[in-house]
Amino acid sequence: MPQRALDKQTLQALEQWRKERHQAPETAGNEADTADAFAAWVRDCGATSVLTGLGGHGVLACFDSGQAGPNWLFRAELDALPIPEGPDAKERPHRSQREGAAHLCGHDGHLSILAGLGRLLQNTPPAKGRVFLLAQPAEETGQGARAVMTDPQWPFQATRTTAVAAAAGLKAPDGEQGDHASKSDAPFGTLDACIAIHNLPELPLGHVWCREDSATAAVSSLAMHWKGYTAHAAEPENGRNPAFAVQAALQEAARMEQRDPEQSDFLLAVPVQAKLAVDPERFAEPAYGTAAGSAALHLTFRAWTQKRLEAAMDAFEAEAEEQAEQHELALDMERVEAFAACRNAPALVRRVTEAAIALDMSLLDARRPFRWGEDFGLFTQAQDGVLIGLGAGETCPPLHHPEYDFPDALMPVALALYAKLLEQAGL
Ligand SMILES: [Zn+2]
Repeated sequence: MPQRALDKQTLQALEQWRKERHQAPETAGNEADTADAFAAWVRDCGATSVLTGLGGHGVLACFDSGQAGPNWLFRAELDALPIPEGPDAKERPHRSQREGAAHLCGHDGHLSILAGLGRLLQNTPPAKGRVFLLAQPAEETGQGARAVMTDPQWPFQATRTTAVAAAAGLKAPDGEQGDHASKSDAPFGTLDACIAIHNLPELPLGHVWCREDSATAAVSSLAMHWKGYTAHAAEPENGRNPAFAVQAALQEAARMEQRDPEQSDFLLAVPVQAKLAVDPERFAEPAYGTAAGSAALHLTFRAWTQKRLEAAMDAFEAEAEEQAEQHELALDMERVEAFAACRNAPALVRRVTEAAIALDMSLLDARRPFRWGEDFGLFTQAQDGVLIGLGAGETCPPLHHPEYDFPDALMPVALALYAKLLEQAGL
């Protein structure tokens, strides 16, 4: 089978499409226009079926060969960030036209790669099995993967359910967990491979990063709220000031960290916000005569493995409960914005490595996972998957930097890699 490739004109159209997405960024949960544009694009590519409204604004396009064979899914993200673009963007004709939002993580580029793959599949449909293109919403908040996979419309059954997947509400295979969906609820059966790309600024353009097992960190945040009661500042002993419990929590967070990323027990417990007040609803104006009666603290935890993260957070929460009890405070804790660790399937990592070598692409040092969370991790917890990193160029500003802009030169590189993967799998 000849390698699929796009002609120059189609690539230019794809770059133009990417710039249009960049001009009209939509933040997590608000991706209606971006989703519409992608659905229209894949319909134009002759997708066999297109599901919309998955887990919010998710779009799933299917290219069905009509022959028996594996189900492969390629996934990209729809959402932009709630960050304004920096002053350099003013020079760019395709700068963001929506105030306070911008594609500073390159999701416009990832989505365009997926759109390009649609064109490749239009020109050369899969020879067997099915190829799915998933445009996933709300990646930045860690909610999209879960929303998509727990949507009643999601046409697949998980092949396994790890603890983290079960906690996210994913249905286990073989009816292990509660109200498991029967086979009839999964018209396409199971997924044999889930594949995603993330661009990597500051690394050479088009160089490939791929490692077995942990690819991105397990990340979860904790929202803590203490309720005591106020007292005159002259008589603090008459109140229940949560300051002591907040202090203990901050100390415990710092104590439990293992900041050396070379260590397998690497752990960060980073305070992101703290409030201490008479009343958490009215903390803007300090009341100097009154001792605080309530507090809130927000922390973000990350570790190389799910297990390490869970154990550390369990221990941290137990300690906080004990402190609250000692200081006679009510304590409410909630885990939020969880990103499951991405576990790259070894067989898929081998395929990516072989494809990269066949294309003469350089492989980057991938000894350590990335510290950021990526909610594609949840896909890899429920079935075999691989997250591929692609260098975005040494001069490309970092992800989420106000001056970041996805390098269009990466699109043909990513498409060549995807095409090679499909070719090698006989799809
Ligand atoms: Zn991203």
